[in-house]
Amino acid sequence: MSDVPVTTDLTFALDWRHGLGARGAFFAAVAAGRLIGARCPACGATVVPPRARCGNDATLMVPVDLPPAGKIRQLTLGAPSALARGDAGCVFALVQVEGADNSLLTRITGAAAVGARVTLAPATGEVIHPAQHLVFAVTPAH
Ligand SMILES: [Zn+2]
Repeated sequence: MSDVPVTTDLTFALDWRHGLGARGAFFAAVAAGRLIGARCPACGATVVPPRARCGNDATLMVPVDLPPAGKIRQLTLGAPSALARGDAGCVFALVQVEGADNSLLTRITGAAAVGARVTLAPATGEVIHPAQHLVFAVTPAH
């Protein structure tokens, strides 16, 4: 009775249509090297990624193009994952995007440091999820 297997290995493959909803336009812009945010016509608050209503006054926000650049506010090192295939690990940062009031969570390439200037450098090649295009590269100093 002790030779009876109690487990077996199985392999699953799954095709999945993942809805992007209102974030679809944001991810398409990021893949093309652009950033879309939203600005409140009532109070002027500007956020990235865009959201439908202002967090201050619930006014409907208007999409705005933002410069694809900013500065690193905070950093953390993540374990290797599907987001950074082949990398030893991946650096995630909160980036203060120029013209936005909030920070954007993104992956960073290059010698990252708090305060470093970064520019959107969308990942190329096949991605599993469009969020993988959201990568900023440290901008070389002049
Ligand atoms: Zn507002």
